[in-house]
Amino acid sequence: MRKYVIMGVQGSGKGTQSQLLAADLDLVHIGVGDIFRWNVQNHTKMGAQVRRTMAAGELVGDDLVESVVRDRLTQHDWNFGFIIDGFPRNRRQAEFFLESYDIDGVIVLDLPDSEVRRRVLNRRLCADCGMDYHLIDSSPKVAGRCDSCGGDLVTREDDTEEALAVRLRDYHEKTDPVIELFRRKEYVFTVDARSAPEAVQDQIRKCLRLPPMTARKPRGASEGSSPPVPVEARQPGAAGA
Ligand code: ADP
Ligand code: ZN
Repeated sequence: MRKYVIMGVQGSGKGTQSQLLAADLDLVHIGVGDIFRWNVQNHTKMGAQVRRTMAAGELVGDDLVESVVRDRLTQHDWNFGFIIDGFPRNRRQAEFFLESYDIDGVIVLDLPDSEVRRRVLNRRLCADCGMDYHLIDSSPKVAGRCDSCGGDLVTREDDTEEALAVRLRDYHEKTDPVIELFRRKEYVFTVDARSAPEAVQDQIRKCLRLPPMTARKPRGASEGSSPPVPVEARQPGAAGA
């Protein structure tokens, strides 16, 4: 059983790296932001509650975030473990988490703020499968179309200059101290996130003393990673396939 947390500033590749690790080790990938985005896209009650907060780049309230994480983890579909991404983001969330779960490692993806802007402002997301693209570094074969499922590529509502400034400020003010807290407990592995995704993944595995990735999964091969919410809770025809 492996329980990992992945942290890193916006655009540092938490989602990509967690999915690679999760698919290979049969971990459940829990992306807290993905869960909220799914709720917004599917017009749930929770989605209505968080939509404006997210678009402005602000943090959702701790009570709601904690209940989302608690509900997700009590599903116990994580026989081989989990990797959680986007949580904890502040001291209170970290305390809640440490009280309830023992963690095997915290991976910190290190990226300078200057690179964050370049990545985030050029990022596009597949509206259907969530796969992400970078217009310069990893552009889709057909402009505006997902290589993997053919879905429309869209810009995240919070990937704007204004919202990014808020997100970065919160990250340094509230999330940096969480990394310090974990560091004191000696769980932290810091990896340089400027390299190509495969190289970053190799570094993560070295830090966690895991064998190198068994087979290189082509871009877009995300089957095996779990949807942001359990399948039975999704509406028919929603993302996936
Ligand atoms: P990023 O790390 O790029 O900001 P995420 O996809 O992790 O993006 O999160 C998107 C948004 O979801 C955040 O800006 C915030 O509004 C909300 N969110 C996600 N995780 C948390 C959290 N742990 N606490 C509060 N809000 C969160
Ligand atoms: Zn797609």
